[in-house]
Amino acid sequence: ATLPPISPAPTKMANSLVEETKRIVAQFDYTDDDVNKGVREFLRQMNEGLRKDGTSISQIPTYVTGVPNGTEKGLYMAVDLGGTNFRVCSVHLNGDTTFDLTYSKVAIPKELMVAKTSKELFGFLAKQIELFLKTHHEEHFEAHVRRRKSSKTAEGYEDENVFQLGFTFSFPVQQFGINKGSLIRWTKGFDIPDTVGKDVCALLQDEIDLLHLPVKVAALVNDTVGTLMARSYASPGKTATLIGAIFGTGTNGAYVEKITNLQKSVDGEYDKSTGEMVINTEWGSFDNQLNVLPNTPYDAKLDQDSVNPGIQIFEKRVSGMFLGEIVRLAVVSLYEKPNVSLFKSLSSNSNDEQLPLFQQWGLDSSLMSIAAADTTPELSTLRQELDSQLQIRSASVEDARAFKDIAYAVGRRAARLSAVALGGIVIQSGRLKETKDEPVDIGADGSLVEHYPLFRDMIYEALRSIEGIGAEGAERIRIGIARDGSGVGAALIALVAAGMEKKGIA
Ligand code: BGC
Ligand code: MG
Repeated sequence: ATLPPISPAPTKMANSLVEETKRIVAQFDYTDDDVNKGVREFLRQMNEGLRKDGTSISQIPTYVTGVPNGTEKGLYMAVDLGGTNFRVCSVHLNGDTTFDLTYSKVAIPKELMVAKTSKELFGFLAKQIELFLKTHHEEHFEAHVRRRKSSKTAEGYEDENVFQLGFTFSFPVQQFGINKGSLIRWTKGFDIPDTVGKDVCALLQDEIDLLHLPVKVAALVNDTVGTLMARSYASPGKTATLIGAIFGTGTNGAYVEKITNLQKSVDGEYDKSTGEMVINTEWGSFDNQLNVLPNTPYDAKLDQDSVNPGIQIFEKRVSGMFLGEIVRLAVVSLYEKPNVSLFKSLSSNSNDEQLPLFQQWGLDSSLMSIAAADTTPELSTLRQELDSQLQIRSASVEDARAFKDIAYAVGRRAARLSAVALGGIVIQSGRLKETKDEPVDIGADGSLVEHYPLFRDMIYEALRSIEGIGAEGAERIRIGIARDGSGVGAALIALVAAGMEKKGIA
C-alpha cells in the first residue's frame, strides 16, 4: 500500500498567523447574551429619548403621522443629500403601488462636504435642481419663466405649477414642522460648522429662489423615513410597514410610534387623528456612553481619529463608512506583530508607508463584500482585489484567508448589532403580541443590505436569539429591500405635507 503523501509541516510563522488571526477574530465576538444585553439597553435609551431632549438616541418627531397604502397619486420632486451622491428626481405616483421616476445624480465634491459656508453647498444643490428641470422638465420650466415674467406680483410665483419638493436630508435634524428643522450635527464625514443650528429647508429654499426655480421645499425627510414610506407604498399585502432602516454609508432607523408614548413636548402642529407619529430614532448615536457596546482597540482608535469623536458610536461599529477602517486597523495590527508573517511582499520596500493599507480610510468596505463572496479555496478574486485596491502584490492564500476571517468577523458583528436595533424596535412596538400571524414589515436600504453577502441572514440569526422575539417571532419579521426611499418616499411626504397645508395644519 502507498502511504499518504506527507504534507509539509506547517512552519512556526504560519502557525502564529493562524493563531493571531483567531485572537483578533475573537475580539469581534458578539454573543447571544451580548445581543440581549444590547436590546435591553436599546429599549431603555429609546424610551429615554421619547421622554426628553438631548439623549443619545434622539427620537426625533417627524410630523409624519401615517404611512401610505399605495393609492397615493401625483407628480412630485425629490432631492437627496445624504452620503456620497446628490440625487435629483421627479416622481409620478400612479396610485396603484407603482411609480415612475426620472432622476440624475452627481457625486458631491469632497471640498463641499467640508466647505466654509452653507451657501457653497446649498448653492451647488440648487444649481443641480435647475439643471435637472432644464433637462427633464423643460416645458414646465419655460412655462413658469413666461408666467413669472408676465405676472406683476409675487403671487404669480405661487401658481399650481410649482413643484412640491421633498428634501431628503440624511443627517440628524431637530424638526419644528414638516418642512422646518435645524441641523443638530453633521455625520458621515461632512463638516460645515456654519450649518449647525440652521434650518436646512430655508437654506435650500433661499438658493432655489435666487435662481427663480418653480420649486417649493414642502417636506424635510430623513432617508429612513423616506424608506419607511416607500416600503409601505409598495409593500405586498395590507400590512403597514413598521420600520424604515438604512445600513449604508451611515446607519439609522425610523418607526411608527404611538403618540401616547411620545412624552416630550412637540413644537409644531400635526395631525393627531391617527394616534401615531413616525419617529426618526438617530440610532447611530445609540450608547455613545459605551454602557454595553463592544469597544475593541480598533474601534477606539477609529473613533479617536474621526472628525466627531465620542458620537455616532453605534454607527461607527455598523455602517459602511467605518467597517473598512475597522478591518484595516485590525489587519495592520496583525501585520505589525513581530512573530507573524503577513503580506511578505511588503516587507522591505521603504515606500510601503504610502500604501492604502497604511492610510486612514484606505480600505473601502466594498472589499469586505468581495472577501465574503469569494468562497473558492484559492481565494483568487480576493487576492486580485488586495492587489488592485490595496496594492498588496502577490498576497498568499494564507494572507487572504487571514484578511477574509477578520473582515467576516467585523461584518458579522455589524449584522448582529443591527439586529439589536431592529429587535429593540419590534419589541417596543408590541406588534408581535398585538396580532397573531401578521408579518412585521421592515423596509431596509443601503450598501450593506444590498451588497454584503448574507447580511440579512446574519441579522435573522441574531433576531432569533432575542428574548421576546425568538425563532417564532423572527419568522414573522419580514425585512424587505426598499429602494428609492429618498425619491418615492420623499415624494410621498411632500404629498402628506400638501394635504396638511390644505387642512390648515402646516
Ligand atoms: C445620519 C442619519 C441617516 C443615516 C443613514 C446617519 O449618519 O445621522 O440621519 O439616516 O446616516 O443615511
Ligand atoms: Mg442614501
